[in-house]
Amino acid sequence: MKPAPFEYHAPTEVAEAVRLLASYGDEGRALAGGQSLVPLLNLRLARPKAIIDLNRIESLAYHRLEGDVLVVGALCRQRDLERDPAVLARCAAIADALPLIGHLGIRNRGTVVGSLAHADPAAEWPLLAMLFDAELVAEGSGGRRSIRAADFFKGAFSTALDPGEILVEARFQLPPEGAGTAFVEVARRHGDFALGAAGAVVAGDDVRLALGGFDSVPLRVAPDPEAAPSAVNPVDDIHAPAAYRRRLAGALARRALELAKERAR
Ligand SMILES: Cc1cc2nc3c(=O)[nH]c(=O)nc-3n(C[C@H](O)[C@H](O)[C@H](O)COP(=O)(O)OP(=O)(O)OC[C@H]3O[C@@H](n4cnc5c(N)ncnc54)[C@H](O)[C@@H]3O)c2cc1C
Repeated sequence: MKPAPFEYHAPTEVAEAVRLLASYGDEGRALAGGQSLVPLLNLRLARPKAIIDLNRIESLAYHRLEGDVLVVGALCRQRDLERDPAVLARCAAIADALPLIGHLGIRNRGTVVGSLAHADPAAEWPLLAMLFDAELVAEGSGGRRSIRAADFFKGAFSTALDPGEILVEARFQLPPEGAGTAFVEVARRHGDFALGAAGAVVAGDDVRLALGGFDSVPLRVAPDPEAAPSAVNPVDDIHAPAAYRRRLAGALARRALELAKERAR
């Protein structure tokens, strides 16, 4: 299938993109890597009146480590992080997760921030955002605001972004050097969305666990593998029964916590 007709804009400044998006209200959609939006357009599951293409806004194409904070602009491709040895060395959980996201071609175009805005409950970046208490920076016609990851994911494919707002930056608060982190998942085939995933941090007394794919949003739960099956709320679907997913939550929680502990110095 081909998309329904839409108006197309390719601004070069964030302010212009915000103005355009606001002018269409909930009938406008931002386009980043297009790896989720374009299939939705082609299947006509999304029929926006206008697409605001962010790809020419060069000021959004960056990432950097600012002390313990990994700062990622809206046009940073997933592959940009995968190719940055400093990022991979600084955070093992991110290094674990990146190769599990789709395939190389998808990560070449797909953005980190686009994945957060898309809010697929089984996606890797939303889980990492919960694990690392990310701050998500949105810009709309009223200016900029910062939203904690815990307040950002409202449901499957639903976020706290208002119509007309663009997510311009994500700020991941990495644990201190020497902390152990890990990300593990189970998928039916390499590159498929995960049936379930777990991320863990072990930094002295600060032990954290986040789970994804088991609920409509990624969850921060008590770092206890025994408690994990009852901390999630999976449903039966064509991929796996809920009972399997509950057991998987416990198994992945254990694996992620053990690996993070091994890696902690
Ligand atoms: C075959 C295939 C397999 C995949 N497997 C995985 C996987 O295993 N794990 C995984 O996590 N992902 C997977 N993906 C999705 C991929 O990671 C996408 O790149 C990502 O989900 C969306 O990023 P994007 O930049 O492509 O966003 P787009 O597709 O451009 O946009 C997605 C949505 O987010 C909105 N949006 C994007 N950027 C912004 C912004 N800055 N501000 C406001 N709204 C914005 C768009 O309006 C749209 O609604 C897969 C995709 C494909 C095609």
